[in-house]
Amino acid sequence: MWPYESEAEALKDVLRLARGMTYKCAAAGASYGGGKCVVIGDPKRDKTEARLRTLGRFINRLNGLFITGVDVGTTPEDMLVIRQETPFVVTVPEAWGGPGDSSQATAFGVVQGIRASLKEIYGSPDLQGRTIALQGIGAVGKHALNYLVEAGALVSVADIDQERARLVAAEYNLHIVSPEEIHSLRADVYCPCALGNVLNDQTIPELRCKIVCGSANNQLGEEHHGDLLQQRGILYAPDYIVNTGGLLAGLDSLNPGGYNRHRAMEQVSRLYDAMENIIAISKAQNIPTNRAADVLAEQRIAAIRQVKSLAS
Ligand code: NAD
Repeated sequence: MWPYESEAEALKDVLRLARGMTYKCAAAGASYGGGKCVVIGDPKRDKTEARLRTLGRFINRLNGLFITGVDVGTTPEDMLVIRQETPFVVTVPEAWGGPGDSSQATAFGVVQGIRASLKEIYGSPDLQGRTIALQGIGAVGKHALNYLVEAGALVSVADIDQERARLVAAEYNLHIVSPEEIHSLRADVYCPCALGNVLNDQTIPELRCKIVCGSANNQLGEEHHGDLLQQRGILYAPDYIVNTGGLLAGLDSLNPGGYNRHRAMEQVSRLYDAMENIIAISKAQNIPTNRAADVLAEQRIAAIRQVKSLAS
């Protein structure tokens, strides 16, 4: 839900988001994607039970062809309201058979991306002793920190919320870096888990890492910044692939019997293979990883389209 200025603007955004979902799901190995809905309105003012249930009724008419879930402006509790009108909704709270907070699964996926990238650069996915510059220790960043520290990585953190940074650094006995400097820290991995547009004309020349892999959406300022990273010899794990863990966990609840955490995390762990495939395509075609991810998605869409045309 977003207060779009016009229907045209909303339509443009929903088409962009739907395309993104298709590519994200295809490359991550999920057999969904292609759809997205947006609701024009201010979530703080316009989100009412009646509106959410109206949306639920429309979704129900599609009879499973379209499934919705949490995104900007909505919460797992909102999905419960929609669920009163349709079963075709994921990311409901844990008590209702959903995965609940998706940030842990997202963080787990990011760590798989980091491991696959380390394997490529250093010959081993082992995190022991690897240095990580973690930008943002919110929902995803904090879970990622847990996984990384547990695996023996040496993590430095930055957050614009100074108090949060101080508390987390004390809890884990970590080094705090200023939010302005974290991207330029000398480290094996720069892990952006805060905001988008962190890889741009200004920051890319300042990077002193071998790998960029984090959850933040839209990290590349523009597509060509992927080329710039490749030219600098920095391995970029495409954000829209490695941050798919939460989505995969949500989709797991569509399986017969509902959500199964073990199975969901097993599915998320396959993001390691997705990243390996992206690296292989990037090397074979000498293209940056952000484009290689698109190629991986397009290859799978084409292959499965052929399968679907059989005996139909
Ligand atoms: P969050 O709001 O819980 O955490 C973001 C953290 O980043 C906060 O602690 C905030 O203070 C900090 N921050 C903001 N600007 C900063 C800056 N300039 N420097 C350092 N720290 C800064 O959000 P989240 O759910 O952890 O998501 C993090 C990113 O991952 C977002 O870009 C989000 O879109 C993306 N993402 C999240 C999920 C998920 O499952 N939550 C899934 C896919 C993608």
